[in-house]
Amino acid sequence: MDVFSQRIENLKSQMSQAGFDLVAITTAPNLRYFSGFVPHLDERFNALLISQKEVVWVAPELNREQIESHVQIPLVSWRDDEGPQGAIRQALQKLGSPRSLGVDGAGRADILLRLQEIAQPQSSQSADGIIALLRQVKSADEIEKLALAAAQADRAVQAAMQACRPGASEREVAWIIESFFRQDGAEQVDFTLVASGPNGAFPHHHYSERVLQEGDAIIIDIGATLNGYKSDITRMVYLGEPSVEFLRAYEVVNQANLAARAKVKAGQIAQEIDRAARNTLKEHGLAEFFVHRTGHGIGLDIHEPPWIMEGNETPLQAGMTFSIEPGVYLVGKYGIRIEDIVVVTDQGVQVLSQTPHDLVVKSS
Ligand code: ZN
Ligand code: ZN
Repeated sequence: MDVFSQRIENLKSQMSQAGFDLVAITTAPNLRYFSGFVPHLDERFNALLISQKEVVWVAPELNREQIESHVQIPLVSWRDDEGPQGAIRQALQKLGSPRSLGVDGAGRADILLRLQEIAQPQSSQSADGIIALLRQVKSADEIEKLALAAAQADRAVQAAMQACRPGASEREVAWIIESFFRQDGAEQVDFTLVASGPNGAFPHHHYSERVLQEGDAIIIDIGATLNGYKSDITRMVYLGEPSVEFLRAYEVVNQANLAARAKVKAGQIAQEIDRAARNTLKEHGLAEFFVHRTGHGIGLDIHEPPWIMEGNETPLQAGMTFSIEPGVYLVGKYGIRIEDIVVVTDQGVQVLSQTPHDLVVKSS
């Protein structure tokens, strides 16, 4: 059995435990996970339908040959001039009519509405919980792909650091990062966050026309897709001479990152990683400025389980991959964040991000 058939079998056993008769897979990350292939997705009805009895892909006719050349799954196609209703009915004859329907939470509402109208299930729910149980523990092959993506992000962050200079705008630096990723073979550039000076105090600032100047602390938080898998790294540049206060805060954030990393190990409770980072900041009076969770899982999605935060009592398993990204945000002044991607192992932790944590100080 190939890896994709195995994943579908694993989903089927989760479905029977959770009481789903039919699950519709419609998003790019989930289609890639369960079939190995992602067709161009638009407004047309396109869904991989899974029941205990059958697996059927309902797809637009214009995608049919391409899907069939990549996957072995039986396909029912529909033409633009007839609409998907007939194909969905035909698929449901093979799959059985579901009492309970599961869909991926990030899927299109119109696909869900269409399925509800035709299949008439008694209940419709998100299947994200059971899909996450499978996706959050990565295989060796997936970890290898995440390592390649992380290595590409390491290279891109070097290009970003070089591009930071007084007179360049955040947008110009973002464009250099984006072009670097594309030239380096990224399938997609997911985000190029360049937050300089006071903009650094907004954790989700993207980039703006602000021009970099002496005295700026610059947060560079970037990520792209390689072989379907995501990267995510944050490093910092300082233009000119940082103050003693800034350097002290930077070192505390670095210690928080390392304290969280040191806690990672199979069997550890997820929230303990968050607590380790937060306690380090608390010891130095900076906890109130850490306004987000310590990390998020990463894989085919940039943000996915496990969530590294207070309240998540999930025990970590070997093969889980997530970010560790403590930060502090001083409104009106600056922000500081240092982010790595790590893998849980039986012995402890494997850190995929290789760029040193040192602040890159550029004085003119
Ligand atoms: Zn990030
Ligand atoms: Zn992140």
